[in-house]
Amino acid sequence: MVTTGALERLRETNRRAITGLLAGEGPMSRADLARGTGLSRTTISSLVTDLIGTGDVVETADRGRPHKGGSGRPPHLVALSTPLGAVAGVDIGHGHLRVAVADRSGRVLAEDTDSLDVDEHGVDALDRAARMVRAGLAAAGVERADLRAVGMCVPAPLDRRSARIRTGIMPGWRHLSPGDELHRRLDVPVFADNDANLGALAELSHGAARGIADVLYVKVASGLGAGIVLGGRLHRGATGIAGEIGHVQVGEDGQVCRCGNRGCLETEASAPRLLAVLQPAYDEQLSVRSVLALDAAGDAGVRRVLSDAGRSVGRALADLCNSLNPEAIVLGGSLGTSPSLATGVRAAVDRYAQPDTAAAVRVVAGELGARAEVLGAVSLAIARVAAS
Ligand SMILES: [Zn+2]
Repeated sequence: MVTTGALERLRETNRRAITGLLAGEGPMSRADLARGTGLSRTTISSLVTDLIGTGDVVETADRGRPHKGGSGRPPHLVALSTPLGAVAGVDIGHGHLRVAVADRSGRVLAEDTDSLDVDEHGVDALDRAARMVRAGLAAAGVERADLRAVGMCVPAPLDRRSARIRTGIMPGWRHLSPGDELHRRLDVPVFADNDANLGALAELSHGAARGIADVLYVKVASGLGAGIVLGGRLHRGATGIAGEIGHVQVGEDGQVCRCGNRGCLETEASAPRLLAVLQPAYDEQLSVRSVLALDAAGDAGVRRVLSDAGRSVGRALADLCNSLNPEAIVLGGSLGTSPSLATGVRAAVDRYAQPDTAAAVRVVAGELGARAEVLGAVSLAIARVAAS
């Protein structure tokens, strides 16, 4: 027999699942909450009524997407009541440090960016990141004691068990545990994840993947990686390194990759590689920014090279689409907004994925640009605080 106490404990667990989801992903409809928690619509409605009663959750003036296939007005969204305290997001990129201080509903209160030298040792960069967080708190008028947690983005796969960086472009970071290092400096819990996972989380919470349950997010930048969202949750895998599509082999005897293999996707489609391929044909010094401008202006060489890169990426994604049947592929990273890259990805998915799978997936550019990782880091911190 189920006792009243056991039932109440179950409801409490389920209420915490709802607040955890809202904290991590922002305002959601009851239908999305049902999908995200795996609970029934009826259970969700009853628990949300409880939470509105206790003042933990409010119904927002915003409305979500219309019901699938249904008519009438879209549903109201529910959101966490503005909770106390703040969180920070720290994004360590290949060439930048970006820090955001946000309230626990995810509203950014202060944000700053600084450049980062790839040769700078990780320890020095983390000293700087800690100073930027303190400055951000001061700028936002938040007391140091009110900082609850920090989410952190690192541009390399993190081993989930050791929390150390395994490999990466930046030699001064290898074998470092950036989360522990930052924790020592700020004395609050620090949660670290890689850039592709946090980009996916950000697009899911605030961007192009909002309200979508099954998404492949691909970051095409200095490196190449994917964040996999299944059933509205980030799929990190057994040891936290799911989505490493940069090292899928696309050429048996291709260029040697930094991972030691040959012909990895990253050796064909990362930003430095594409710039190197294009540079000999142009007089001016090319950059990602100028290449994107040339792409938008219809430059034939740039369009060709970017769409070929998109095809290579799309070839690898087609296999993932066949396995996972996602609703959207979101292209992020510095090259994510390139129309030619998207065209190439679309063409390869149509060619190599099973037709029904290809027809089910949209290919879209990310909406958050260079801020995706720091916003994802904020979302991660909020979710972990809510879950604790
Ligand atoms: Zn590789």
